[in-house]
Amino acid sequence: MNHQLTKIVATLGPSTAGKEKIRALADAGVNVFRLNFSHGTHETHLQNYTYIREIAKETNRHFSVLADMQGPKLRIGNFKDGKIILKKNQSFRLDMNPEPGDEQRVCLPHPEIFAVLQNDMILLLNDGQIQLRVNQFGTDYVDTTVLVGGPLSDHKGVNVPDVMLPISALTDKDKNDLAFALDMGADWICLSFVQQPDDVRLARSLIQGRASIIVKIEKPAALKHIDEIIELTDGIMVARGDLGVECPLESVPGIQREIVEKCRLKGKPVIVATQMLESMINAPVPTRAEVSDVATAVFEGVDAVMLSAETAAGQFPVEAVTMMHRIIMTVQQDGAYRHILNSFSMPPDKTIASGITSAMKQLVKVLERPSCIVTYSMSGATTMRAARERVMIPILNLTVNERVANKMALIWGVHSVLTQNLHELTEVTPVAVKMARELGFAVPNDELIITAGIPFAQQGNTNVLHVATV
Ligand code: PEP
Repeated sequence: MNHQLTKIVATLGPSTAGKEKIRALADAGVNVFRLNFSHGTHETHLQNYTYIREIAKETNRHFSVLADMQGPKLRIGNFKDGKIILKKNQSFRLDMNPEPGDEQRVCLPHPEIFAVLQNDMILLLNDGQIQLRVNQFGTDYVDTTVLVGGPLSDHKGVNVPDVMLPISALTDKDKNDLAFALDMGADWICLSFVQQPDDVRLARSLIQGRASIIVKIEKPAALKHIDEIIELTDGIMVARGDLGVECPLESVPGIQREIVEKCRLKGKPVIVATQMLESMINAPVPTRAEVSDVATAVFEGVDAVMLSAETAAGQFPVEAVTMMHRIIMTVQQDGAYRHILNSFSMPPDKTIASGITSAMKQLVKVLERPSCIVTYSMSGATTMRAARERVMIPILNLTVNERVANKMALIWGVHSVLTQNLHELTEVTPVAVKMARELGFAVPNDELIITAGIPFAQQGNTNVLHVATV
């Protein structure tokens, strides 16, 4: 099978500026483009968005656009000389004074951090590379001892692990970016530094159904509410960058495995992100360990694996996507992949839709030449239900709704095709056969397993299963 079942998310940035470069990523296997609102301007994001939609039309494909909000990333202020070196055991003060810092102090313009300080608490700076222990504090300063020193430069990030900060996951900048991303037409909105279920509720009330939500799991506080957050969101990203700063690094693989499993059970898309092929920022080939990391995520059955700096700022963006594509295709051909996906226990619930999808899975096992699942789906619900089963054949999603087609580009195994409005199952079958042949999913005598919800106009009620021979 030459259809890539696990999807690739690529972050756009200076290395992939321009339509030709984005087109090269799409040709190499990207399904989802991530616009990172921590960087770039509204103008560059809109330009990239326009290119992506143009390329979709030119290549007759559908791509998801994922707008990633910066969230309340906490940062220090700047230094007189741009940079200092902190030495182990020295004292260092963080305060609200906006004056440029030096070896003795720097501004920390976040009163909400001072509000939750406790003696002996650990503060992490610069992606966790610098560790400070809290000695003494007030409402606008904290005196610390440097436990692990090193270079520290302007605006580096600050992490306060293990406490719930009294801040919302959407800053004023995020609200402005969110309105822009929704007007632009983003399919998925990523929420950063979510700490509690109410953060997701707030975002949903602002988004008003105009896009779907992906929660980035990167705070230990979010892990405490993970089941409720998965229930409330439309998808999850295991954001291993900040997660690996706030939690012990060695706990990240186990957390990844647990979150992926929970999402798969609920049928919510899950992305594994960050440092997947990190060395390819500067080298045309990855390390063995990185290849193994991508393969592990694919074997776990994730919907998508993500590239960040590799495509946004790296020297080898197309090579990184090509490598990811090769890893995915190789895992797909490995007998162990089918075995692992099949052995995942997916208890059906007591609904007709669930019974239909269980029967669909059974049909894939008993038919002689099952070539693909075909879903006719208004909202994408039937398609996502089919994808949840991970049946090792592609899912051809026929839909009249372009937004649904775009959104489904993130979902495991799904390839969308826009159709005109169909009214009867008898109308779906010839379209399904034609499209499956044109796309190379089926050849004569292959079997298609068609599933839908009748009446078609009603969304989300999967109740039909039909087998057609090509
Ligand atoms: C991460 O922390 O892993 C992540 C994906 O978020 P960002 O790239 O925005 O830091």
